[in-house]
Amino acid sequence: MRPALPSATYTTLPPVGPPGSLADRCSSPIRLAGERLTLNRDTGEIVERFASTDAPFGVVLLACGNRRASRCQSCSDVYRHDAYALVRAGVAGDAERGVPIDVSTHPRVFATFTAPSFGAVHRRVVRGTSLLPCRARSGEESCVHGRPISCPVRHEANDQAVGQPLCPACYDYTGAVLWNAEVGALWRRTTIAMTRLLAARAGVPRSEIGRLVRLSFVKVAEFQTRGLVHLHVILRLDGPGPRPTAPPTWATSELLSEIVAAAAVQTSLRTQRPDGTPLLVRWGVQLDVRPIRAGSEGEGSDTSVAGYLAKYATKAAESAGGADRPLRSPYEIGLLPVSPHARAMMATAWSLGADRRYEHLRLRAWAHMLGFRGHFLTKARRYSVTFGYLRTARVRYRANLAMIARGINGVPAMAEESTLVIRAFAFAGVGAPSLADLVGHQDGSAP
Ligand SMILES: [Zn+2]
Ligand SMILES: [Zn+2]
Ligand SMILES: [Zn+2]
Repeated sequence: MRPALPSATYTTLPPVGPPGSLADRCSSPIRLAGERLTLNRDTGEIVERFASTDAPFGVVLLACGNRRASRCQSCSDVYRHDAYALVRAGVAGDAERGVPIDVSTHPRVFATFTAPSFGAVHRRVVRGTSLLPCRARSGEESCVHGRPISCPVRHEANDQAVGQPLCPACYDYTGAVLWNAEVGALWRRTTIAMTRLLAARAGVPRSEIGRLVRLSFVKVAEFQTRGLVHLHVILRLDGPGPRPTAPPTWATSELLSEIVAAAAVQTSLRTQRPDGTPLLVRWGVQLDVRPIRAGSEGEGSDTSVAGYLAKYATKAAESAGGADRPLRSPYEIGLLPVSPHARAMMATAWSLGADRRYEHLRLRAWAHMLGFRGHFLTKARRYSVTFGYLRTARVRYRANLAMIARGINGVPAMAEESTLVIRAFAFAGVGAPSLADLVGHQDGSAP
């Protein structure tokens, strides 16, 4: 349940993210022209009037809000701060934002769900302090295309070969793209399996498990160098009720770990290849599940896990060799400065996108993300506060600061219940205004 923002405390609620105006630092703000009126609901009196013509450049700037650092550093910083606050509130509690501190005593695990293999890729193998050969194998074996199936190279971390297939012709690109595209549906099925397993442990029908124990989560997708997503997930068990209460004593971290592991093995999704042969979408065999410790120190603590997830939430698809904006035509694929492997993933997504059986996956719209539909951070509603909640808190905090700066502190008009805000703004362009805009504005001439 989304907690209501306590309006009485918004003046003291610290905003998450760096201080100052977001739009001023945004690299491509949206320009708006128009007027805002704040009216007293009871009397109809105008409490505040703001017109963009009174602003320095005659326009109001709205931050672009892009999550990718490659598109806007400032807005991606804000997103990372919000992601951290949101993830951490659910794992350690955040009384100020309405998530009880007690959640830090509930069973919580941190799990990483991986993708299966779609063919051998070059990899960096580190054991202890030694760097090992990529794929050691005795004999001079090769694939049907005459390419070696072993690789003696000890790949350094920045080696461009890491993540690239040993033989692109052997690599199952269709399977890999469809896996990225179906991972959201696979996750949903996995959570259903977890609930079913919980009900079985409790000895109640699945429809009744919610009266005993509730499962919530936040998950973050991370692209690997091989162009497939991994899911890093925090899962938590609560008792019943709209707000997180203590779960029954039988619901332990060990039980949660077992259920997560069992659900990952059991769950799969049936689809088909373009030639009609069946394709089973399932998790890779590498599954890591570990309990989360309360506290701020060391690996596996709730603070470190929250930081880890927030970092991945902002790592964009470009780190996997994808592109940061949708493709308009297949010809763009050849022009992008990406690896041959990423290009093959994009080309496969584009080509599968013509097949009506995959229409629901919108593969062409998401070809630049190698088929993945871009849900980098998602959560169960119960887990924590929402991004919207954090944004609203920030907007109110700033609005209040502005009121204080103009000497109208204490006007109850900013309280949501007693005022009516009328906004009439129109799109006036993109990008920060320049000196030329200022001169144009003062001349009264058209830009
Ligand atoms: Zn921006
Ligand atoms: Zn290699
Ligand atoms: Zn081959």
